[in-house]
Amino acid sequence: AKAEGKGAFRLFEPGMDEQLKHRQALKLALHGALKRDEFSILYQPMVDLSSGRIRAFEALLRWRHPELGAVCPTEFIPLAEETGLIVGIGAWILREACRAASRWPDDICLSVNLSPAQFRSAGLVSTVRAALTETQLPTDRLQLEITESVLLRENRANLQILTELRRLGVKIALDDFGTGYSSLGYLHQFPFDKIKLDRSFVQNLPGSREGHAIVTAVAAMAQGLGISLTAEGVETSAQAALLRERGYSEGQGYLFSEPVSEGQARRLIGHAMTV
Ligand code: C2E
Ligand code: CA
Ligand code: CA
Ligand code: CA
Repeated sequence: AKAEGKGAFRLFEPGMDEQLKHRQALKLALHGALKRDEFSILYQPMVDLSSGRIRAFEALLRWRHPELGAVCPTEFIPLAEETGLIVGIGAWILREACRAASRWPDDICLSVNLSPAQFRSAGLVSTVRAALTETQLPTDRLQLEITESVLLRENRANLQILTELRRLGVKIALDDFGTGYSSLGYLHQFPFDKIKLDRSFVQNLPGSREGHAIVTAVAAMAQGLGISLTAEGVETSAQAALLRERGYSEGQGYLFSEPVSEGQARRLIGHAMTV
């Protein structure tokens, strides 16, 4: 509740009622969305900043509701997370994306996002194992992306799960690096295969001095720890050049490609991008 000038309290801001109703409607609609086949997956390339070749694709979920239209992932994924629906949806994404990736050339990897609720769910390791077995995708071609928020709670248990996933042979990337609570402690507790620098740090390059400082500091840290780096949100060739010079091995962003359909992704493979 927010204090008003006269000392009155209001539980809701004007318009909040509407927002709440909208969220409720979305939650309700989310329940049957998987069964009604309303989800699809787009693939965005991660590009080698030296050669311009595609190294991997990140799977990104899309939802189109018959009446509400396309709903933004940043809007519905938190709701899927709250309702626990993300666990079933996430298992579907893993299977679908692994199936798509099993048809790519051997040197192209797949990266899939894991949400905190999925991470805490009991069957995660067996779900990942099943997706790999069913689709025959070699384990070392799958990478899972987790954010710092996953690592925050129940540290021991989380490290255990990460270790089990690692034992399967999959790679683990730390997503949105720099936006979380950045207690760097977990970086030496768990050996990540990759750090993905959040796009908010790339956005103001090459103009901003602060941007330079952060990009450089993260690169030095990752090099010290022997972890490879991907920069998100690369939109200009000036950004790509600066990041490459600082030791970032991969870039992802609109400069190279937007997230595209499975068919378009297959057509992109083999074409070197201009970096
Ligand atoms: P993310 O994992 O950080 O994914 C990158 C987001 O940045 C994607 O948004 C992508 O479309 C967008 N993006 C890529 N290149 C650029 C660029 O050059 N400039 C700008 N401005 N944006 C760029 P999207 O697809 O809307 O997804 C938003 C977030 O939703 C993702 O952020 C991720 O946290 C979540 N998400 C998406 N798909 C899944 C999924 O399958 N499972 C889970 N658990 N979360 C997902
Ligand atoms: Ca991601
Ligand atoms: Ca990210
Ligand atoms: Ca993000």
